[in-house]
Amino acid sequence: MRELRATLAWVAQGTELCRKAIVDLDESSYSEPSLLPGWTRRHVVAHVAANARALRNLVHWARTGEPTPMYSSPEQRLTDIESGARLPAAWLTAWFAESAELLRYATSELTEKQWQAEVLTAQGRTVPASEIPWMRTREVMVHAVDLGTGVQFTDLPEEFLAELRHDILTKRGSGAVPAVRGGDADLTAYLAGRPYTGVTNPDGSPAAPLTPWL
Ligand code: ZN
Repeated sequence: MRELRATLAWVAQGTELCRKAIVDLDESSYSEPSLLPGWTRRHVVAHVAANARALRNLVHWARTGEPTPMYSSPEQRLTDIESGARLPAAWLTAWFAESAELLRYATSELTEKQWQAEVLTAQGRTVPASEIPWMRTREVMVHAVDLGTGVQFTDLPEEFLAELRHDILTKRGSGAVPAVRGGDADLTAYLAGRPYTGVTNPDGSPAAPLTPWL
């Protein structure tokens, strides 16, 4: 099982990668496309900030026992991303930083017993609160790459990449993924439905992309 302290350190590491990726963006570079279809960098940052707020709802749930879902509805989740993406660049950057800090603070207050409390994810999975840092790690690490400002899968910690591959394979179902080969970072990008190179089928032909994930 993943160690909580290690996962919290990954959250901090991924948050820092995102912070560095956006700190120098002006209005026009913020409006450039991200690596995610149909999303500018603004949409990615608005989504990551809204995700921190959503996960803070789960932390609240774990701390108080009062059911507070991540998002009030899937529509609300999308509307928040769209309206967030229209914020001025400096606001968006400030929202990202503040939401990340508030989440960090909220998790720092949880007791050992509260970390075990069960909460419901937006996908409808019941998980212990100790899963929240991993959910956040995936977001900040993978979306740091999606921002398209230079962070690559090869920049992410190897142990994180291994954990992510395991997580995605479990969620996709092993039967849904062909037996492909490639370097660790490229295999992870491939599994995540992100741009990759050098991933091949057993017969040496290039592997066809999977559908996006996360
Ligand atoms: Zn996401």
